[in-house]
Amino acid sequence: MKIFLISLSLIFFPLSLISHGSVGSSAHKPDAPRHMDFPNPKGYVTVISDLHTHTAFSDGHVWPPIRIEEAIRDGLDLISLTEHLEYQPHMQDIPHKDRNRPFKEATQATGKHDLLVINGAEITREMNKDYNSPGHINAVFIKDANKLYKFDENKIEEASNLVKWGQDQEGKVMEFYAVTNLWPAENAIREADKQGAFLFWNHPSWTAQRSDGIAILDPIHEKLINEKLLHGIEVINGGFYSEEAFQIALDNKLTVMGTSDVHNLIDWDYEPHSGGHRPVTLILSKARNEDSIKSALFSRRTVVWYKDLLIGEERNVDMLVKACLEISSASYMYSSSVLRVRIKNNSDTKFTLKNNSGFTIANDDDYIEVPPQDTVTIEVNTLERLSKIDLDLQVLNAITAPKENLSLTLSKRIE
Ligand SMILES: [Zn+2]
Ligand SMILES: [Zn+2]
Repeated sequence: MKIFLISLSLIFFPLSLISHGSVGSSAHKPDAPRHMDFPNPKGYVTVISDLHTHTAFSDGHVWPPIRIEEAIRDGLDLISLTEHLEYQPHMQDIPHKDRNRPFKEATQATGKHDLLVINGAEITREMNKDYNSPGHINAVFIKDANKLYKFDENKIEEASNLVKWGQDQEGKVMEFYAVTNLWPAENAIREADKQGAFLFWNHPSWTAQRSDGIAILDPIHEKLINEKLLHGIEVINGGFYSEEAFQIALDNKLTVMGTSDVHNLIDWDYEPHSGGHRPVTLILSKARNEDSIKSALFSRRTVVWYKDLLIGEERNVDMLVKACLEISSASYMYSSSVLRVRIKNNSDTKFTLKNNSGFTIANDDDYIEVPPQDTVTIEVNTLERLSKIDLDLQVLNAITAPKENLSLTLSKRIE
């Protein structure tokens, strides 16, 4: 069936545009183990999370236990299955009255594993300022997904004035989407907030909703932020990185988020067997339990790991990178003033460092690569024999604002 749009006030896009989140490979090391590993900064636990995923309960193509199995293989600590509440392309085959089912299925599937699963949903609207329509908003830590959408049969006629549908399967999907879209997004968001949800704006630069690919706040977003109904924003979604979204996060004190938004298989989208990984949000939590993690999200203690990049507020990136990198040893060669410095990387991301100290390096240029879970040795010309080295570095893969990198000093007493 074709969808006929008969109104100029076009609020509905073709349904085929709603599916997204697939990416090309981001492989970085052919034989790297799949399990993700990051150290804990002092006083915190690094919780590895993916809070935006889909299953066959909306427009994903797998059943919840597959998402759980993938998460366990990837070494995630926390996951949420966030189904579109309104876009239900499998509704004729998988009619489910209880929208908490994917959460229950996922929770059962974790078995004895210590993977944390939280209930979540994607409130799915067009992005249209004339209709106060904010796009897609994820609500996680919700208590009841059934209260976050409304299908009002009395609204079918009103919806049919905006969009026509047939009686076949696709028509029913469209009817459901159109009618549920008439319930204001703000009502769903307020209900989620009432349930104590953490709410974040998904893929704000998605080209199906922003044709120039630039994230920008509409009045509805400003209103939600002012009323503290919007707490985070995706800077990374699947294969998309939005610098504008990052700037919006910094300017409006929103939590920096990165998610896979996976619909297919993680293995197909990210090729973890070849060293790739899904984008994740590293949450710096006081403890590894739901209350602490939720509080860390509201306190904006996150760093996104995307390809080899670590993206977040400076205070968080600084804390995490300091846990990842250290000088494991520093000693002079013979009686010379050439200092042999070993830099150790305790994490699964590759670091690219730039020497910003006044010293020259005897065995490399100013750009130093430290592979994941590995150590490199540089030889530093200190000119005189020091008792302590302070190595000023720029961390090129650690992004603290658009176009800005983390500056870091690694120090070590010389043996
Ligand atoms: Zn979405
Ligand atoms: Zn999604």
